[in-house]
Amino acid sequence: MLLDIQKIFSTYREPVCVQAGVDLSTEDFPGYAVPEPVDARVCAVLEGNVLDLSLDMEPVLQFQCARCMEEARKVFPVHTSYAIRKGDWADPDAELPFAPDGKLDLRELCYSELVVEVPTVLLCSDDCAGLCPVCGCRKPCACTQETSGVAVDERLAILKQLLTE
Ligand SMILES: [Zn+2]
Ligand SMILES: [Zn+2]
Repeated sequence: MLLDIQKIFSTYREPVCVQAGVDLSTEDFPGYAVPEPVDARVCAVLEGNVLDLSLDMEPVLQFQCARCMEEARKVFPVHTSYAIRKGDWADPDAELPFAPDGKLDLRELCYSELVVEVPTVLLCSDDCAGLCPVCGCRKPCACTQETSGVAVDERLAILKQLLTE
């Protein structure tokens, strides 16, 4: 879906808002996928010479947790805005993925926003404890408590030995 930014500048009367289903399921994201269509809302409001373009979406990311290796899904909310000036679309260094005729591809916008914003390390939950080095299961597992206790005891035993020698 294309948003004609150039036209919005030349014919602006009131805020322009569009809502579009964006399919990013075939995109190759680094370390995750977006399997479900994303409901993206874009609003353009002209303030003087600057067009304030806001993007809101709540894509569901599918990924493998970096700690426990489980498949996980997480909503990654995006609420961002851009300041666009007339003629920005002709600038090859423009922040936004404009076509030369001043049109903005919403799908491309959502894609590039995710590539920039989604962290490289994704966890199933912020407090994911990862895998147990002993049994290989997700922590907390049956052996975690026991094993750490043994390790401490062993170190203490060596320390005692050193002290008596
Ligand atoms: Zn995890
Ligand atoms: Zn274990």
